[in-house]
Order: sequence, then structure tokens, then C-alpha cells
Amino acid sequence: MSRPVIMIVGDEPGARAGLLAALTRRFGADYHVVSHGSAGAALEHLGRIKSDGVEVALIIASQPIPEMDGRELLARAHEIDRGAKRALLVRWGDRGSSETILQGCAFGQLDNYLIKPWAPPEVHLYPLVSEFLAEWTRAYGPPTEMVQIIGELPSRRSHELQDLLQRSGIRHGAYDARSEQGRVLLEQARQSGQLGPADAAALPVVMLLDGRALSAPSNTELSDALGASDLAQRSCDLLVIGAGPAGLAAAVYAASEGLRTVVVEREAVGGQAGTSSLIRNYLGFPRGISGAELAQRAYQQAWLFGAKYAFAREVRGLRADGGERVITLSDGREIAAGAVVIASGAQYRRIDAPRLERFVGMGVYYAAIAEDTRPIRGHDVYVVGGGNSAGQAVVHLAKNARRVTLLVRGASLGERMSDYLIQQIEHLRNVEVRLRTQVTGGDGAHALEHITLYDEARHTTEVVPAEMLFVLVGAQPHAAWLGDAVVRDQHGFILTGRDLPPQASGADPRPFETSLSGVFAIGDVRSGSVKRVASAVGEGTVAMHFVQQYLAERTAR
Ligand SMILES: Cc1cc2nc3c(=O)[nH]c(=O)nc-3n(C[C@H](O)[C@H](O)[C@H](O)COP(=O)(O)OP(=O)(O)OC[C@H]3O[C@@H](n4cnc5c(N)ncnc54)[C@H](O)[C@@H]3O)c2cc1C
Repeated sequence: MSRPVIMIVGDEPGARAGLLAALTRRFGADYHVVSHGSAGAALEHLGRIKSDGVEVALIIASQPIPEMDGRELLARAHEIDRGAKRALLVRWGDRGSSETILQGCAFGQLDNYLIKPWAPPEVHLYPLVSEFLAEWTRAYGPPTEMVQIIGELPSRRSHELQDLLQRSGIRHGAYDARSEQGRVLLEQARQSGQLGPADAAALPVVMLLDGRALSAPSNTELSDALGASDLAQRSCDLLVIGAGPAGLAAAVYAASEGLRTVVVEREAVGGQAGTSSLIRNYLGFPRGISGAELAQRAYQQAWLFGAKYAFAREVRGLRADGGERVITLSDGREIAAGAVVIASGAQYRRIDAPRLERFVGMGVYYAAIAEDTRPIRGHDVYVVGGGNSAGQAVVHLAKNARRVTLLVRGASLGERMSDYLIQQIEHLRNVEVRLRTQVTGGDGAHALEHITLYDEARHTTEVVPAEMLFVLVGAQPHAAWLGDAVVRDQHGFILTGRDLPPQASGADPRPFETSLSGVFAIGDVRSGSVKRVASAVGEGTVAMHFVQQYLAERTAR
């Protein structure tokens, strides 16, 4: 089989030859590195090798190339080969390139960038090219399966198990039980004596690397079989509820300070951030980082410092027992802690249009509006929502978008939006407000291209071109399980520190502390928090100072 291709496209012969030599030297054994001096030759070659069945792992295009700019070339290359990773090679110090990169990424025209000059390659080139190749290999390379799922595909439960494994960073494969391969695997499972004949129909079956087979496991059974949880802990200094960015940050800092720390997570690490394909605004990652990767790193960091985890278990209750805070898990276990940090996050309400789900992050954006709106310059965008967050998003996006259309289900903006925002929106010339309008669907080849709108007043349906849809229809905190254990705001978010009503707190409440002393709340579940990865991490870090203070005072008492 021929080696996958790395293709370089650039107009400067010297620079191109240098890059070709450097990449061949390092990657030549596994990849066929080729170069082209023109966009036309590159696209023609790409089409040819694609029809010969040769895989292309990476295309690196200079910005600019004679006939078209590198960004356009990469967009055209994507139409020929949807799998190849695409890097724009920009000149160091070129002021316009940041905008080109951001726009290119936002519109799915490129994946990331490299900078020239790149010498020495060991520092500035090879690690970055390796990252592209690792991403490509993860998606298209030979699979190494630590877990195999055999079920009726597609099925909801098989999908749920795959999602859990994916977010836990566990490589796996899924096979239809009716396929040849699926039947062979099921037979292997039966022969191993792990599945009796009575279990034959209980799909999906999950096979682990060590030969164990589980029949229709629950999330808890699968998680325990993978050895993810340490369930011996019945008491600890700090119990953290939720392993999203806030909880993981709290765990890293608490464990590194020597606190016996237990983290309970009802699903997988990462929380909402774990579902984000690329977080671009987190400090220190100019090329962005996938939420799952960030979470895996933090998970390992806390584990290395000694934090223990209990996965696939939900915290169902919290009570004070003298000086201890006791939580009850969904499996009935209780864990007593000196202090508790609630980092159970929130869930953004989705709009009821299942077809839009596959475009999340590729034209459909829930809640997270980037500070930098340059990528939308000159484009028409849609915002869904009638509250203040939608109004603020409209004002923010209108700075750079050609046109912003606000889609509101209600009959007037005044129902849920503050007057100052309504006035601002009314003065923006490039904003249109469509009341009593719902998004009912959307589609596109790779990224979002159009959405379907239903006009409730006229009972008409219309399909409109749309590259970007921002959905801000409110968030729901994961806090209902708390009942009356701590004081919450009218939307259910947990009140902390000086936001607490005087009768619910002491004279000088500690920041992040809830109405129950020794219980702290951080991240998205906290009333008034900024709903971002960096702020969740920041709160997790800063809150530890006050947790330590509380624990020290408790010991002194
Ligand atoms: C698709 C998407 C993309 C995003 N992109 C960005 C971005 O690019 N940049 C950015 O800054 N922000 C982004 N955000 C927002 C960001 O992810 C959140 O602000 C951040 O994850 C909040 O962290 P958290 O730890 O407070 O809560 P969460 O991430 O919500 O984590 C809470 C965790 O607690 C667990 N949990 C809940 N209840 C219980 C319970 N009873 N027992 C045990 N565990 C429980 C949940 O399963 C979850 O894992 C994005 C959000 C989404 C949904």
C-alpha cells in the first residue's frame, strides 16, 4: 500500500525545497512528501491521487500562492479530499495573517497554521506537523481498539456507549451484530465463557482488551470494568462534584496542596468543555485545543497529584453531619468530607431541530460567542433567543457581521430583554429582528449552509442561506439534586459569597462559599459566573484558597 501523502504548495522555490527536504528527512519513512509551485498543479495532483485511492494526510499551503491565496486553495482541496488536514503557512510578522487564519478556521477552510521561517525544525516545525499527523491518524489511521461494542447499529444505546468512551479518551470500535465481523466477535465472546446463551440477545455486548465481555452494561458497569473509579474512599478532605473544567481545576490544586481529594462525576471527564471540538480562547493554546484533550490532561494531572475519582455516579444528596459534609451517590454509597466543592455545571438548552446537531461547532454555536468577531466580518449570521444574552450577542456580532438576524419566538422583544439592549438593537442598521419565528431545521454539505424558519404568525416555512447560527436560549444549572440544601437564585443557580441574602450567610461570607458553610460552588453552576472554560478553571483555582482557609479554621476549632 502506498504511503499517505504530505503535500506542500508554495511559490518560493527555495522555501518550498527547504520544507520538502526537512519533512522528507523526518517523516519520509512513513509519508510520501511532495511539493508543488502552483495551486493548479497541486489540485490536479490531489484529484489524481485521490481517484487512485492514495490517502492524503496533510496539505501545507503558503499564503499567498500565485493563482489564488493559500486559504482558497485549502478550501478547494477540501472539496476533493475531506479527510486531509490543512495547514496555512504564514510569514512571521505578517499582520493580516491572524484574521485570515481565524476566518479560515471559522468557515471550515483550514484546520490550523504553521509559521515560516521555522528553523530549527525540531522546535518550530516537527512538533506541529506531528500534531496534524496525530489528528489525522486518530481519525483515519489503523484503529487500535481497547474496547469493542457489538450491537444493532445504529442504536441509541450503542451510540451512548460510544459517546461515553469517546469522551473518556478510550479508543474503541463499534460493529453491527448482524455483520460478519460482529458475528465473529460475538462468537469469540461466547467462547470465552463470558456470555452464556441466555445473554445472547442482550445487546450491545462490550468486549474489553483483556478478553472480558459485558452484556448490555450500564455506564457504571462499563466504567467500573475499565477500572476508572476508585471506590474505596469513604472519607476525604475535599469532595469535588463534577469533573468539568472547574472541578478538575479544583482537584488539581487541592491534590497538589496535599488535600485528600475525591472527584465524583456522573458521566465522563470534561463536562461541557469535553464536547467542544476546539477551544480557541484558552490561555496558552494559540492553535486551540480540543475540550476532550484539555480535560484528559487535567484529569491525569489531578490523578498524578493523588486525586481519586468515582465515575458514572451521580451525587443525589448533600447534608451536614456535625462538622462533616456528607454526599450520597446514585449507588447508595455515602462519602464524608471536610469540605465540598460543587462544580456540577449547567446545560445549555438546545433548540428542537435534531438535524442541526451535526453542525454544532461547524456553523451552529451554543452559548459561546467568541470575543473576537473578526471571523464573521462581511457575513450574514443568525442569533436565536429573546433574553439578554441573545441581545448582547447581537450587539457584539453586529460590529463585524454584514447582517445579524435575531430570531425570537415571542411576540415582542420586551418580554424578556432589558430595555437598554432593545434600544441598542433598534439603532443598529445591520440588525433585523424576526418575532414569532422558530428555527426548525438546517443542512449543509460539510458545515451549515442553510436553515429552515417557521413563521408562527403567517404559518409559513422558509429556507434561508445561513453560515452561522448562534443559539442563546438559556442555560439550566445541574443543581436540582440539591433541593433546599443550599440557597439558589430564581433560575436555580447557586448563590455564593456576598450574593447570598444576609439571613442565609454569616456577617462576612467567604467568596465561593454557599449558604451551607464548608460547601463551595464554582463554574457554570454558580449564580453570576462567567460561562467560559478559563473562568471555570480560574474559579476552581481561586476557590481552593478559601477551602483551605475553611479547613484550617475547622481544625483549629
Ligand atoms: C459545545 C460547547 C462549546 C463551548 N466552547 C467554549 C469555548 O470555546 N470557550 C469557552 O471558554 N467556553 C466554551 N464553552 C463553555 C464552557 O465549556 C463552560 O463554561 C465550562 O465547561 C463550564 O465548566 P464547569 O466545570 O463549570 O461545568 P461543566 O463543564 O458543565 O461540567 C460539570 C460536570 O459536572 C457533572 N455533573 C453534573 N451534575 C452532577 C452530579 N449530580 N453528580 C456528579 N457529577 C455531576 C457533569 O456531568 C459535568 O461533567 C462551550 C460550551 C459548550 C456546550
